[in-house]
Amino acid sequence: MLLDVKDLRVSYGDFEAVHQVSFSVDQGELVSIIGANGAGKTTVLRALMGLTMPKEGHISFMGRDITFMPPHERARLGMRLVPERARVFPQLTVEENLRMGAYGMKKDRALAERIDWIYELFPVLKDRMTQLAVTLSGGEQQQLAIGRALVSDPKLLLVDEVSMGLMPKLVDRVFEVLKELNASEGMTILLVEQNALASLGISHRGYILQTGRIEISGAASELMADQRVREAYLGV
Ligand code: ATP
Repeated sequence: MLLDVKDLRVSYGDFEAVHQVSFSVDQGELVSIIGANGAGKTTVLRALMGLTMPKEGHISFMGRDITFMPPHERARLGMRLVPERARVFPQLTVEENLRMGAYGMKKDRALAERIDWIYELFPVLKDRMTQLAVTLSGGEQQQLAIGRALVSDPKLLLVDEVSMGLMPKLVDRVFEVLKELNASEGMTILLVEQNALASLGISHRGYILQTGRIEISGAASELMADQRVREAYLGV
């Protein structure tokens, strides 16, 4: 297992947002955690990245216990988070934002190649490379946030609600890119989403998170056929 999470509990003061959640992601997998508003998806990702410390449980990454490791060390091990609502550096240009993704990496020719590759994935970023990020539309900022996470060639890409606020056409494009990254680059990806249709559509496996608990899990195709999932998340 690349990532293994056991009995994770996370609280905000007295309020427990995540109750004994266990799941895993294997090398090369694309896995979704599906949940409604407030289910605890962002909290799980923040605990994975070390931005919120769990009350109980264990997180292991590449066989190492990282439960209490600080975020920058997790980043150095190859974890990257694309946060909710595309947090980019508004007063830096598109290219400067991408370069920030290489923080801690050796700045060499590989970085320039990597940035060119991101411009191929998201051509709109190339058109806007010298513009300040604040001038981009929400959808463009979302693409920039993904690009910035990809600069360092992460071993595990964590993506928080990437579909939120995007036009349907752009949702399709972004999910296509994620699927492609997984299929051709072998990148391991964990998506956290409300959009069950789009995310299960590209995933190998999925977990359904309901008010801080994983209630259902299985192959993405099984979940999409499951009556409970269809009613609650697919609107069928
Ligand atoms: P959303 O899609 O709305 O972001 P989510 O599934 O990501 O939802 P979380 O943001 O993880 O859910 O929130 C889970 C629960 O924890 C919610 O009830 C939320 O109100 C609560 N919560 C989140 N952050 C905090 C905080 N900083 N302090 C107190 N409660 C919080």
